[in-house]
Amino acid sequence: SIVFLNNEFMPMEEAKISPMDRGFLFGDGIYEVIPSYDGKLVGFGPHIDRMNQGLEMIGIQFNWSHEQWQSICQQLIEKNGNGNLGLYLHVSRGADEKRFHAYPDNVEPTVYAFAFDIPAANIPDKSKVKGYRVATTQDLRWQRCNIKSTALLGNVMHFQHGHGQGYNETILFNAENNLTEGSACNAYIVKDGVVITPPLDHQLLPGITRHMLLDILRKHSDIKIEERNVSMEEVMSADEVWLTSSSKEIAPVIEIDGKPVGNGEIGDTWLAAQTLYTQHKHDY
Ligand code: PMP
Repeated sequence: SIVFLNNEFMPMEEAKISPMDRGFLFGDGIYEVIPSYDGKLVGFGPHIDRMNQGLEMIGIQFNWSHEQWQSICQQLIEKNGNGNLGLYLHVSRGADEKRFHAYPDNVEPTVYAFAFDIPAANIPDKSKVKGYRVATTQDLRWQRCNIKSTALLGNVMHFQHGHGQGYNETILFNAENNLTEGSACNAYIVKDGVVITPPLDHQLLPGITRHMLLDILRKHSDIKIEERNVSMEEVMSADEVWLTSSSKEIAPVIEIDGKPVGNGEIGDTWLAAQTLYTQHKHDY
């Protein structure tokens, strides 16, 4: 595939970074993943805004305009076949001469971007979409999960916890046994027709799919939404459980730790929500 590294497009095999890059040594960087279907980016503006906010939060002075990123994304899409692609964008603090924790002065950030295949968008059809089976575990990540940091070891270990047992994802609960999110996605329950999801704070990533989904439901449906704490008991007795991310859209969960969610089948509220999402996602 063709990738972008520090202002040049090149085959992935030719892309080389310094072993002193702080992204490599410390996970010191910010990333984004933006979905694109048949050449059309979804949620581009909010994704770039979130990346710029993340860079500012960790003191990396780097602020490309939406137009600059848009041009790189469009070129990556064209050079990689215009299909269903996730665009991975990564800005690390750059390569210093020595390994020293403090933010260095006068280091050029490293900018890397590549495209990868993602599944076709979810068809809002219960018979065609596969329900997720997930594990649960205690959320042992740090107190800045709102930052989309490239330092993902906590998320990687939590994902592996479920993956190693044959599950598709792992959902996480904090020390108070409240739901935070999944290892790579936001999480929701549906109870008596109400969609309930944890409020945005330092314990979870402010997902762009989450933002778009809640906005679409508020604007285009009568479905009630609550952003509040969700206990483990509520998750285990929910009618439906969903996960969202840029590459999954809305994924229905049908099993948690081997127990069925609701009646063990994909729910009607999922169908309504994914249908509306499919209709309106290109507004963002
Ligand atoms: N939470 C975590 C931990 C994630 O890694 C992701 C994205 N991969 C999300 C939530 C969902 O974010 P988005 O909808 O912006 O993809």
